[in-house]
Amino acid sequence: MSKLELRGLSKVFPDGRWAVRDVDLAVDDGALVVVAGPSGCGKTTLLRMVAGLEEPTAGEVIIDGAVVNTIRTSERGIALASQGYSLYPHMTVGENIGFPLMIDGLHTRRIDERVREIARVLQISDVLDRRPRQLSGGQQQRTAMARALIRDPRLLLLDEPMSNLDAKLRTQTGLVIAGIQRRLDLTTLMVTHDQHEAMAMGDRLVVMRDGRIVQSGRPIEVHDAPANIFVAQFVGTPSMNIVEATVLDADGAVALRVGSHDVPLDLRARERVPSVGRLVGRAVGLGFRADALRQDDDGPLDLDVLSTTLVVHDQFVDLDLDARRVTQGIDGVDVADEPSSTIVMSVHHDDALSLWEPCRVSIDTGRIHLFDLDTGDRIT
Ligand code: ATP
Repeated sequence: MSKLELRGLSKVFPDGRWAVRDVDLAVDDGALVVVAGPSGCGKTTLLRMVAGLEEPTAGEVIIDGAVVNTIRTSERGIALASQGYSLYPHMTVGENIGFPLMIDGLHTRRIDERVREIARVLQISDVLDRRPRQLSGGQQQRTAMARALIRDPRLLLLDEPMSNLDAKLRTQTGLVIAGIQRRLDLTTLMVTHDQHEAMAMGDRLVVMRDGRIVQSGRPIEVHDAPANIFVAQFVGTPSMNIVEATVLDADGAVALRVGSHDVPLDLRARERVPSVGRLVGRAVGLGFRADALRQDDDGPLDLDVLSTTLVVHDQFVDLDLDARRVTQGIDGVDVADEPSSTIVMSVHHDDALSLWEPCRVSIDTGRIHLFDLDTGDRIT
């Protein structure tokens, strides 16, 4: 049972690159916290500092209340499982798993017992006599996990643990890892660039960008109330639609002009964004998820269908909207020059939609988000 805290943790590499900037983070006893963000945002460097493989430039790594910055990796009580499994090819699975205990000089019989115990938890008891090359990708992954867990670590660190697996195995293995983590009540910090994994596995999701934490919360909270445009588009599938809109006063009622369309804002929208009345005349980023759109003969948007994609029971429909697309990169908010965006609507797979046919659509105004085009932040 352990707790991990990071206080003001930063890393600047000798070439001047800030990989991690002033990160504060707590992983409570038994929790699984997932840090997600695009490639290069500093996830691995953060994890390596926790593991003691990288020296922080500033800040503290605290395990169970004690600062461990100067404590060696092997003495931190940490298990690290990373992208490459690096199993020893000439050893059996059992020997691979027991290797850390052999280094520790444990008695062979005790090692054998521990290997069998941990193999049972990871459901690989039947392959203990095989060599790594005789295993499936998922079994190799579990073997690596078993080897990481055999020393009863205080803390489990996972660096993109599923990145070598195909899509189906990723889901299965993700469930296995989350199951083991809960069963063993292991305080776990995992990093991934895959927001699906992050959403599905973590008790808490921490989104990083450019070395900093941009939002942290329960996955569903981050999904439903993203802090800014970057998070809104990073988390969730398909990515949130965000286009430029202008707030209008339409005869005393507030509306949004989106391209050549006017979307009246009803009470639900005004409850969601109470300050909208003060934004009249301003351009904002209007965000809505694919399932906040629906076909509606009386809807305010009259759009063309560009393409459709079948996804299990749903269909994602690409629609052509004459409004400028809004994104947020490291340099700030970008509003496209061209007033043309492809927005995505999800509909039931039975709903017939013809390509290039006009389609009337309404937005569930109780589920819109408005974003500040200067800062990218969500307007509340
Ligand atoms: P990925 O998902 O691609 O693994 P990441 O989010 O894990 O990326 P890091 O590997 O932590 O990102 O790298 C963060 C930044 O620090 C990147 O810009 C990277 O180029 C840089 N960086 C990483 N290691 C070093 C190093 N040893 N020297 C200089 N810069 C480095």
